[in-house]
Amino acid sequence: MELKDNDYGTICDIKETILPELPEVETIRHQLEPHLRGKTIAGVNVPDPRVTAPVSPAAFGRRLKGRTISGVTRRGKYLILELNSGETLVIHLRMTGRLTYSRGAVRFSQWPHLRLVINFISGAQLLFQDQRRFGTAFVIDAGEAAAYWRRLGPEPLDRAFNARLLAGILDRRKRPIKSLLLDQQLIAGIGNIYADESLYRARIHPLRNSGSLTQEEASRLVAAIKETLRDAIRLQGSSIDTYRDARGRRGRFQETFRVHRRSGEPCACGRTIRKLKVGGRGTYFCPGCQKL
Ligand SMILES: [Zn+2]
Repeated sequence: MELKDNDYGTICDIKETILPELPEVETIRHQLEPHLRGKTIAGVNVPDPRVTAPVSPAAFGRRLKGRTISGVTRRGKYLILELNSGETLVIHLRMTGRLTYSRGAVRFSQWPHLRLVINFISGAQLLFQDQRRFGTAFVIDAGEAAAYWRRLGPEPLDRAFNARLLAGILDRRKRPIKSLLLDQQLIAGIGNIYADESLYRARIHPLRNSGSLTQEEASRLVAAIKETLRDAIRLQGSSIDTYRDARGRRGRFQETFRVHRRSGEPCACGRTIRKLKVGGRGTYFCPGCQKL
C-alpha cells in the first residue's frame, strides 16, 4: 500500500529483510516524538491480541486510558513511550513491525496487518502494523523500568561506552566477536548490518575470538561502532527493502555499506569482499582489511 506523507503525519516503515536496529528505531523515535509528546490516550484497539499477550487487550487498554505521553525514548531496539503516570509503554518492532502516526482516524480495513491502534483524545492515532506478528507492546510499572532495562547491555552511543567498558565485556569470552556484538545482553541495539560495518571499520575479522582483542583493537572497535551508528542515524537508517522515513523517503545508509551485502565486490583495498556464516548470520568482511 502506498502511503502519502500529506495524508498522514509521520510514516515509519520497516519491512522484512531488514531488522530494525538501533539507527532505525532511533530514526522512528526522533520522527514520532514531536507528534506524540503531550498527547493523551483515549483508548486502544487491538485487532490482534497476540501483540499484547499474555496481557489481555482489555487489561492493556485499561492501563493506558487517560495517560499522557511525556516523552519518547529508546533502549537498544525498543521504542519507549513514557507516560505521565510513571509507567512506560514499550513497543518492539521485531522483524516487520511498522509504526505510523496519523493526525486523524483512519479506516482500519485499509490498513493490512494492523495489530494495535492507540487512539488519542485529539483524534490522532498511532498505528502498529506487523506482517509477521513478532512485534510486541507491553507496559512496565512505575518505578520498575530501570530494573527491567538492566537485562540489556550498555547503550553504545552513551559516553560511558568506552574502550575500558568494552574490554570488560570482551574479557575471557571465547565467542567470535561478531556473535558477541549481536548479543543484546552484552551491548544493546547492534544487529547484523551494523556489526559487519563496525568490524570492517575497526579492521577486525568477524571470527576473532572476543577475548583475544588487544586494548588498541577494543579502542578501535568502540570508535568504529559509534561512528557507524552515528553515520546511519544521520542517513535515517538503512533501507534494503522498503523502510521509509517520516517524509516517505528511504534511509540512505545502505548506499554507504562498505562490506555488508557486498560479497563479490571489490573493497577499497582491491581485495574481494567475502561472505561467511557466523552463528547462523550472513557475515560480510574483507580478507585484506580484516585479517584473522
Ligand atoms: Zn579491504
